[in-house]
Amino acid sequence: MNCSIPNELLEALRSARFVVALTGAGVSAESGIPTFREPMDGWWARFRPEDLATPEAFARDPATVTRWYEWRRQLCAKAKPNPAHRALVQLERRCRRVSLITQNVDRLHQAAGSQNVVELHGTLWEWRCVRCGQQREERQPLRDFPPLCSCGGLRRPAVVWFGEALPEAALARAYHDAAACDVFFAIGTSAVVWPAAELAHVARQHGARLVEINVRPTPLTSLADWVLTGRAGEVLPALVAALQPPDREQPF
Ligand code: NAD
Repeated sequence: MNCSIPNELLEALRSARFVVALTGAGVSAESGIPTFREPMDGWWARFRPEDLATPEAFARDPATVTRWYEWRRQLCAKAKPNPAHRALVQLERRCRRVSLITQNVDRLHQAAGSQNVVELHGTLWEWRCVRCGQQREERQPLRDFPPLCSCGGLRRPAVVWFGEALPEAALARAYHDAAACDVFFAIGTSAVVWPAAELAHVARQHGARLVEINVRPTPLTSLADWVLTGRAGEVLPALVAALQPPDREQPF
């Protein structure tokens, strides 16, 4: 793809004191992890995420919900960071200060090497007991559905389900960074899940320039200063390469 990056955007990034990137499921789509809003097969075709990723669904049928999460965990376990994840690592190196706020639960940003990641919706790789609250990393495949804690309580993925509050510290940090940045990227997010979607509005209200990278329009498109239409795995490497002279360029 021949992706041209506007010069004014490059200038804005070079002079920015603080850049924030909000990422969504579209950033991991090129790693083979389906988004929530595109038609897929398997469990995705049989259930709507809104019907499984809720506390009510877990209370009603914890075995089905945890099997669905295990299926997603196995997909994520096979996935590798793609050029979009790697370009965001480069962005962190090339801009003065970058905060990466993600709605993704797959930890591929961290696997790529991003340092400054705020997980707004938790992670698939930690599970928590609903009775005693113990939370720990869980990388091995689960064997029992639903999984049980040693205290006898049910264990659930440490992700944020529809209708649940976001982790307080992560949300406070996200609002703070959105209000403080000079350039705000919304990348691969449908911008319909709140409060994550609100962050772009907060940034604009505080004077930041808004950049959207997506394969199709979203509610943010008409508000953006720059809309880069295309796959994140193509647009972001082009953007990061354009930010620096060719002799310092590194392969993606
Ligand atoms: P979403 O599914 O609502 O939207 C995905 C967006 O990505 C869409 O706007 C789509 O047009 C865009 N997109 C698809 N492929 C793209 C590509 N290659 N490059 C750029 N854009 C692309 O996802 P969301 O906005 O992140 O919000 C929904 C919820 O989905 C979040 O709570 C998140 O936790 C959860 N989720 C996470 C993962 C993951 O961790 N990988 C996967 C699925 C869903």
